[in-house]
Amino acid sequence: MATEEVDVRRFSAKESSTRVGRIPTPSGFPGLGDINSYLIFPEDNSDELILIDTGVRSDEAWQSLNDGLKQLDCRVEDITKIILTHGHTDHYGQAHRIHKASGCELWAHENLWMTIERMQPPPDRLEKELYYYSLWGVDQELVDKALARRAGFASTYEAMEPTHLLKDGEQIDIPGFNLETVHTPGHCPDEVIYWQAESQVIFSGDHLLPHITPVCLLQIPYGDEARPPSLIQYQASLAKVAPYPARVTYPSHGEPILDHCELINSYNLSTDRRLLKISRILEKGGWMNPMEIAKELFPKAWQEQMVPVMSEILGHCDILEAGGHVAMEEKAGLIRYRYISTPPPS
Ligand SMILES: [Zn+2]
Ligand SMILES: [Zn+2]
Repeated sequence: MATEEVDVRRFSAKESSTRVGRIPTPSGFPGLGDINSYLIFPEDNSDELILIDTGVRSDEAWQSLNDGLKQLDCRVEDITKIILTHGHTDHYGQAHRIHKASGCELWAHENLWMTIERMQPPPDRLEKELYYYSLWGVDQELVDKALARRAGFASTYEAMEPTHLLKDGEQIDIPGFNLETVHTPGHCPDEVIYWQAESQVIFSGDHLLPHITPVCLLQIPYGDEARPPSLIQYQASLAKVAPYPARVTYPSHGEPILDHCELINSYNLSTDRRLLKISRILEKGGWMNPMEIAKELFPKAWQEQMVPVMSEILGHCDILEAGGHVAMEEKAGLIRYRYISTPPPS
């Protein structure tokens, strides 16, 4: 995640629109840094004050949000609506506290429940998740570490029932500043970006981030369906967002992005490079399970960052498999991949 820190500010008409303000709040998680909330100021004669994303539930984040609002001549009690880019704790954690102070509504994508359930899974979901970890060859010790880490994240939010569930393509009516909801699954199943046509602005959540390629988190399937291929979904979402003629993209972490197409191209290049590396590892290694590939590709990170690491490995293996470049087999409770051919650059 980006650790670049930014300041509280109201943007100018030249940058995008005087309707947009930014308030960073600390996530409190090492390596994650601040998360940006964006404020949409009301049009004259309106009192609709909108906050995109909230920060985590912590006293530090609460203080930063209140201080930031004050610098922008607003108060938390004035917020009429929170709109989420997705339900990760740094974007959603503080929603309930803001609601209690202001009585505001909460609007989020209709898949929000999936991300909440992932943070605090009921017993049957946890059992299925553990089954998948064992299929991928992950040791129990690493699983325990990952579950403890997740419990830390889960303690920084308080789930709040959304007032309204958004669908892909849905317009959010804001006087003089309508937003179009664009569903962009990949980083998580409820991720959306918001497009503001008149000022040509994208609010990109964690879908587009400067200096870092967002992790496309593993998804555990429901019922008998196949596991959703997060990285393949993410690539389709990038292709969906690229044509929007954005002057500026406001990400949830770090400074604004001025050329989102250039950023998307750089993401695609790094995916190509990683596909090639995994392909070479498999060419040498014969049949390998995802954990064995992870240890080769991420010789340090696999011990501390099991979930992001396995998300990367399986995401890229999904692409290789879909392209016919690897074979996959499930035998004796383990999934393994074998090299077939080297993928050409996309
Ligand atoms: Zn996120
Ligand atoms: Zn985030």
